[in-house]
Amino acid sequence: MVKANHMMPDRAEASRTHCIRCGTCCMKGGPTLHEEDAILFAKGILKKSHVYTLRKSEVVRNIDDTLMVLKQEIIKIKGQGEAWSCMFYDDDQSACRIYNHRPLECRALKCWDLRGFKEVMARPCLQRRDLIKPDDGILKILAAHEQRCAYKTLESAVRGLRGPDSDKAVGSILALLQYDHHIRPFLTEKLRLDLNTMDFFFGRPLTTTIRMFGLCVKQEGDTFLLVPAESRKSAQPETKHPKDL
Ligand code: SF4
Repeated sequence: MVKANHMMPDRAEASRTHCIRCGTCCMKGGPTLHEEDAILFAKGILKKSHVYTLRKSEVVRNIDDTLMVLKQEIIKIKGQGEAWSCMFYDDDQSACRIYNHRPLECRALKCWDLRGFKEVMARPCLQRRDLIKPDDGILKILAAHEQRCAYKTLESAVRGLRGPDSDKAVGSILALLQYDHHIRPFLTEKLRLDLNTMDFFFGRPLTTTIRMFGLCVKQEGDTFLLVPAESRKSAQPETKHPKDL
């Protein structure tokens, strides 16, 4: 499960009055980006391959550890592989690799006093369309993907599993997952896009986020099988992926 926002202090952090470069805030995850951070892309500090999108209606963990359904999409800096740590955090140096150009939330955060950070959190978040030229043909592809693979659609199909036509519901879910899965390498090849930008353009793969509905996908060749999350856990070692539910 991904966190909508990182950097909430523990009780000990709240008693500090200055930064001791412990790195805790950077190790709790990358920041959510705001409109003011668009300039970092214009300057080439941030690239689309550095970030991923959490789409509208995706379920994320809130800063107070409760679950929250996103009312609109947000864009976050990626972690380091399977770890929470922001990809720009240098553990050896306890430093940010882009410190002089760090995003708005990072500049606002004082873990001993969250007033500035909370004010920044309320500012408009960066959206995918802010980083794509208006005449770029990929916008139409994103709209089609959004229409077909919206989380509301997936949620409705998952609800159908409990109804009288559960086989049809399974088929609908697998069709969504297959579409979302195949569009990524297809467009990478067709439009010569970096595969690492796909989580920016299309959000996290549905084969990953389906876990928010208590389901997992087992892939056997080109075939997807839908299984309860618990069965998959017992069938094979869990891949540690803290961004999943
Ligand atoms: S961008 Fe830099 S300051 Fe911000 S979370 Fe990442 S490592 Fe920390």
